[in-house]
Amino acid sequence: LQGGVREHVAMLTSLGRETILVRTPRDLEKVAGLVIPGGESSVMDKLCRIFDLQQPLRERIAGGMPVFGTCAGLIMLADRIVDGMEGQQTLGGLDVTVRRNAFGSQVDSFETDLDVPELGPEPAHAVFIRAPIIEEVGPNARTLAAVDGRTVAAIQDRLLGISFHPEVTSDTRWHELFCRMVDETVSTETSP
Ligand code: GLN
Repeated sequence: LQGGVREHVAMLTSLGRETILVRTPRDLEKVAGLVIPGGESSVMDKLCRIFDLQQPLRERIAGGMPVFGTCAGLIMLADRIVDGMEGQQTLGGLDVTVRRNAFGSQVDSFETDLDVPELGPEPAHAVFIRAPIIEEVGPNARTLAAVDGRTVAAIQDRLLGISFHPEVTSDTRWHELFCRMVDETVSTETSP
C-alpha cells in the first residue's frame, strides 16, 4: 500500500523467494506470509481501511500467517500505540506497545550494530529512520534486540516486528528468519 516495498522485494528475491505486492484482499489470499515495510504507519492505516484490507489482514494474522513488520510495519503489528495520529489504528497481533518517532527529531536517523543472539554471533547492522521503539513487551512477546536497554525488535509466534531497516543493508538474516517462519507454517498446514 505504501512505503519501502522495493528493497524487501529485492532481498526476498535474492533469497530465491517469489513475491507479489498485496493491495487487495484477493492479493492477500495468494500469500503464505506478509512483509509490512517502513513508510508512514498512519497512511498505511488509512489506505488499509480504504482498500478493505484491515479486516482480512486481522483475520489472517489471527489465523497464524507469518508477518514481518519493519519500522512503520512494526507499528501496524503492535497491539498498542503511543503518539499515534488522531484516530490511528493498528492491525495488532504483536503484544507490544510502540511509541512512534521515539528517538526525537534531533536524532531522526542513525545507524548502530545490534547484538541479536537469535541471528547468531555476528552483530546486526541496523539503520533507524524516524523509528518507533517498543516501550513495553507484553507477556506473549519476547525481546530480540535492544538499544540502550530499549527494545527495538520483538517476536511472538509468527509475528516479527523490528524498528529498523535491514532491507537497506546487505544483512539477509532477518529475512531468512522470516522465511523460516513461513516455511514452518506452510509445512505444518500441508502435513497430514
Ligand atoms: N515514523 C514512521 C511512522 O510513524 C515510521 C518511519 C519508518 O517506517 N521509517 O509510521
